[in-house]
Amino acid sequence: MAKVYVFLGPPGAGKGTLGELFCQDSGVIHVSTGQLLRDEMELGSDLGQQVKELISHGSLVSDEIVAAMVAKRLAQPDIKARGVLLDGFPRTVHQAEMLCAILSENGGEMAAVLLIEADETMLMDRLTSRRMCPNKQCEAIYNIRTNPPRKAGICDRCGTALIQRSDDSEETARGRLKVYDEQTRPLVDYYEGKGKLVRMQSGDDAVEVNYKRLKAALKQ
Ligand code: ADP
Ligand code: ZN
Repeated sequence: MAKVYVFLGPPGAGKGTLGELFCQDSGVIHVSTGQLLRDEMELGSDLGQQVKELISHGSLVSDEIVAAMVAKRLAQPDIKARGVLLDGFPRTVHQAEMLCAILSENGGEMAAVLLIEADETMLMDRLTSRRMCPNKQCEAIYNIRTNPPRKAGICDRCGTALIQRSDDSEETARGRLKVYDEQTRPLVDYYEGKGKLVRMQSGDDAVEVNYKRLKAALKQ
């Protein structure tokens, strides 16, 4: 398998937005576990029904479910050829251990784990002002303050009416930040210990500015 990148960081840090730019530039394939789970919910599959409640409350889905989903996706030939950016996985130390096993089975090589840091008030602000395009072929992400669409409420790329994710409400967003602190932050030490961690600070700037910081951090 080609190179594997992991973007780690609290909800709202910009993993999805910066991840998409990174993938356009580098040709690696963007895999967001949050998006895969939202797709299942929309399809109304058994899996989608199982995870709906957890996601809407801002809790994590079980490690086994998410790891199985990732293993299946990583086994596909496009990823073997082009490499992958994992956005939102792993989210617990147990998931990181599972990823390690998946990669050794597939011969995958971890290129880097990028920690995208941001201050907490900015995160809350960003989550609650985030909007997304619900069109499956598009899925563009906007922010009504820092990255607004040209026409309010309408996707620049495809003209679909934008929506707010139900878990971006203030209360759920706060809960997700707490879940990050308790369950995901320990991964910083985990990957630092393995010598794989690089850091960048995501500020309250335009996307392009943060993307330059990302490239500098990854030296690309
Ligand atoms: P964000 O990073 O903005 O919180 P995501 O789109 O990555 O949002 O995830 C949305 C939700 O999907 C999470 O709050 C969680 O319920 C679920 N989820 C996504 N990835 C994982 C994962 N690796 N492990 C467990 N749950 C996950
Ligand atoms: Zn769109």
